[in-house]
Amino acid sequence: MAFFIKWREIYLIIAALDLEGVLVPEIWINFAEFTGINELRATTRDVPDYNLLMQQRLRLLRENKLGLADIQNVIAQMRPLPGALDFLTWLRQRFQVVILSDTFYEFAMPLIKQLGWPILLCHRLAVDEHGMVSDYILRQADGKRQCIKAFHSLNFKVIAAGDSYNDTTMLAEADAGILFRPPQNVIDEFPQFPVTRDYNELEYAFTRARNEMNGM
Ligand SMILES: [Mg+2]
Repeated sequence: MAFFIKWREIYLIIAALDLEGVLVPEIWINFAEFTGINELRATTRDVPDYNLLMQQRLRLLRENKLGLADIQNVIAQMRPLPGALDFLTWLRQRFQVVILSDTFYEFAMPLIKQLGWPILLCHRLAVDEHGMVSDYILRQADGKRQCIKAFHSLNFKVIAAGDSYNDTTMLAEADAGILFRPPQNVIDEFPQFPVTRDYNELEYAFTRARNEMNGM
């Protein structure tokens, strides 16, 4: 007599998180406050075109003779958002976690250290011999979304969370997408994604998405 045990499929799920606005404050807003250059306050929360935003930032850095070290000095003072570390620990106990960001390794590593060195996939800066930021080098275009597609090709499901315009293609590509403390313009333009306001709500949204995927 044969017994057939039918295992319900439990999907392998990666949790993909945006960095700035989800786990740490906005780097450029902190730098704008430190330098008093108001135009540097613009972020992906306001400007949908990332290239346009970066060209404006590079121009402002040039005009004000601010180099990479000036930005890194401000970043060195920054800390994760209150509760971010506890949330990340909670998440890492339940999913494989990856940070997908449009920031640069030259900026992010002190913050990644404070978060316990999770995997970060982001971009790089070109810096000239005077320490001035001369350009930015995208690892690839639409990198966050490309990561989700790559994880799918590896037979992972993905639940993604972010706060801004530059997260929306990632959220759409993922099996479930969640907005965390988004600005009103993003909520209005992307009503298909659930909105969470604090880490408890975000944990609940991840749990619910996982349970739905696993038919629970
Ligand atoms: Mg963000």
